[in-house]
Amino acid sequence: MKFRELAEFFERLEKASSRLEMTSILAEMLSSAGKSEIGKAIYLSQGTIAAAHEGLEIGLGESLMINAIAKATGYSKKEVEELYKEKGDLGLAVQEIASKKKQRSLFSEELSLEKTFSNFVKIAKAEGPGSQELKIRLMAELFNSASPLEGKFIARIPVGKMRLGVGEPTIMDALATNYSKEFEKLFPKQVKEIKSALKEKKEEKRRKEFELRLKQRLRELIEEKYNIYSDLGEIAEMLKEKGLKGLEKVEITPGIPIRPTLAERLSSSEEIVKKIGKCFVEQKYDGFRLQVHKNGKEATVFSRQSENVTHMFPEIIKGVQEQLKAKKAIVEGEALAFNEATGEYFPFQVTIQRKRKYDIEKMAEEMPLKLFLFDVMLIENENMMTKKFVERRKALEKLVKPGGVIELTKSIVTGRAKEIDKFFEDSIEKGLEGIIAKDLNAKYIAGARKFAWIKLKRSYKGELSDSIEVVIAGYYKGKGKRAQFGLGGLLSCVYDKDADEFKSIAKIGTGMSEQQMTELEEMLSKTKTGKKPARVDSQLEPDFWVEPKYVIEVRADEITRSPNHTAGKDRTGGLALRFPRMVSFRFDRKPEDATTVKEIKEMFKKQKHVQVEEKT
Ligand code: AMP
Repeated sequence: MKFRELAEFFERLEKASSRLEMTSILAEMLSSAGKSEIGKAIYLSQGTIAAAHEGLEIGLGESLMINAIAKATGYSKKEVEELYKEKGDLGLAVQEIASKKKQRSLFSEELSLEKTFSNFVKIAKAEGPGSQELKIRLMAELFNSASPLEGKFIARIPVGKMRLGVGEPTIMDALATNYSKEFEKLFPKQVKEIKSALKEKKEEKRRKEFELRLKQRLRELIEEKYNIYSDLGEIAEMLKEKGLKGLEKVEITPGIPIRPTLAERLSSSEEIVKKIGKCFVEQKYDGFRLQVHKNGKEATVFSRQSENVTHMFPEIIKGVQEQLKAKKAIVEGEALAFNEATGEYFPFQVTIQRKRKYDIEKMAEEMPLKLFLFDVMLIENENMMTKKFVERRKALEKLVKPGGVIELTKSIVTGRAKEIDKFFEDSIEKGLEGIIAKDLNAKYIAGARKFAWIKLKRSYKGELSDSIEVVIAGYYKGKGKRAQFGLGGLLSCVYDKDADEFKSIAKIGTGMSEQQMTELEEMLSKTKTGKKPARVDSQLEPDFWVEPKYVIEVRADEITRSPNHTAGKDRTGGLALRFPRMVSFRFDRKPEDATTVKEIKEMFKKQKHVQVEEKT
């Protein structure tokens, strides 16, 4: 594939005004890519060069990029900088320069996707003396051969400004579109099921609905695989190579993260017992969720976001080697700083200091972590994810030798609300967050929230005392005193998982400190999009649209009906937050990790419930 073709797809994706349009452009793009190209095209469309767990980032600073542009085009650095300032985007600056290039290279040849990608990888891996020059040379080489449109994207990717808004769900939909014909041939049982469910429908509706449902089923199948193997680039390669048979090759693999189970919330122990009956109740620790993969002498640690954080936790690696009996295992737990002397758990603010790049060994000694294990997904070659929770827990108990670093979570098994309450109060007294109740019979549900786990935290009293995580989709200019920060309010959204879109829920103007306001303005002005991003659904028009990228935590008094917002919209209007205020940045959350529309609807329902109860 020529890089020009890919750049043309990117250009169309950038111009797309709906998610549906994005999906069909992506489907076309993925079907034109070859076996060795499809993974690369997927990573680049997301502005990366590898899956998150590889930790391979191009990470080129803007000033190096400006150097490279100058070197390749014959413009002075100052000229490039001025044009960048004028356009506010290095990509657009390069596009303009390339369209009136002063200097033509004699040796330039048309860029392939392979060549472009391989230069990016070389840049990402370059280190040590001479690496800066090498990076500039590799970039300049690309710019030398690039057309204006290619140049635009070549400049944006390494500086982390791709901004096409392509998320994993959109890619999975595009893959499902491309393979649904084959699915129809290979899976007659599923086809029959769908057909019989549609028997009653009218002929012309039936065909359409059939295609839709077929695609949905296939999409679920792909997602199931993605949940146990978090690398869509590789999954797409296997599909390209072997068609749907390729999916069979996707298995749990030490070294490749599994997408984590998520917890639902309920507001009382009675509700928990009503929902899942007798259950396993564990203390809820407030630290880092870690997924640990042991493979012989090697061990890898992944964060909740599937990033490789192995280097940060040397004592945990040691503990894994000493205390896990199996040669091969994947386990999951919460790590937090623990005061051996007093038996106290430290709060999150203390534990978070372990997230650092420097002085790791020193901090590991000063503030050692304990890892409280709560689940197991693989032991030797046995897939534990499909087993019931009670069986997994038993296996986990057998797997861990006593020692100083790894323990199992403290727990009780009960079907009585009163006992849960007592355990809950005990946990709070110890400085913990609350409890998590687990369905004894549930499988490990990767990547989803399905009442296999239910959390109960101190702040849940039925009203809106729980915070909400929202994605910023735009901002308003400041007025009056606010003008000095250039920021008056934030248009914020929650995530609609079914539609894979961000729906507006609040305009937030309070809660930020002056410093946070300056930071926000700085961050957001760099991600302006000029038009409404394709996956944002909002009736309100902020002064500036931004790429839905940053997540913040907010509190609000309640959820109300609103004609202005699109979250949970039905005939009576959407849902909005009343008196929303920012609490903190959540840089550890991806936009798709924000609170979902479904959760907001449930909170709204629960809140009504409580109000009625209070009145009666
Ligand atoms: P939340 O982040 O509030 O949705 O709560 C879910 C998180 O609680 C999980 O992602 C874990 O990081 C953390 N956690 C703490 N203790 C436990 C436990 N015993 N079982 C499962 N998750 C736990």
